[in-house]
Amino acid sequence: MPLFDYRCGCGMRFERLQSSWHAPDPLCPACGAGVRRLPGSVALTGAARPPAGPDGAPTSWEGTGRGNREYVAEWRRTLERRQRLAESYPELSTKRDAVAAHEGRFERAPLTYRELADRASASGDATQAAAEAARDRRKETPPAGE
Ligand SMILES: [Zn+2]
Repeated sequence: MPLFDYRCGCGMRFERLQSSWHAPDPLCPACGAGVRRLPGSVALTGAARPPAGPDGAPTSWEGTGRGNREYVAEWRRTLERRQRLAESYPELSTKRDAVAAHEGRFERAPLTYRELADRASASGDATQAAAEAARDRRKETPPAGE
């Protein structure tokens, strides 16, 4: 199942697991308005997703759910996790090669969005692309007790 990022006109940004690529977009949990799916933000279930970076953090008061304590605290924890992860995976520090998966079979060589996108353009399907990337990885490196 794909996981999508959404952004609302009120500044709220959230992610939602959808049953399919064509599922209707949800309504904003903060204000109930229709929201926009952010392009290129999809992650696949089973592939770990790095915490959002500073670029994704809300920058307005509205965006913090009007200073919602839980929401702000969650962002602080997210950015701290992101910073710790970036120390291990320098790819996370650059927007161009943001990491799509860094756990399991991608632990030693994180799968980047660039890599995923290259494969998606070849096969036209991101789920298939992720599977192909995983398969190639197994060829390149001996399976680590999978
Ligand atoms: Zn909203």
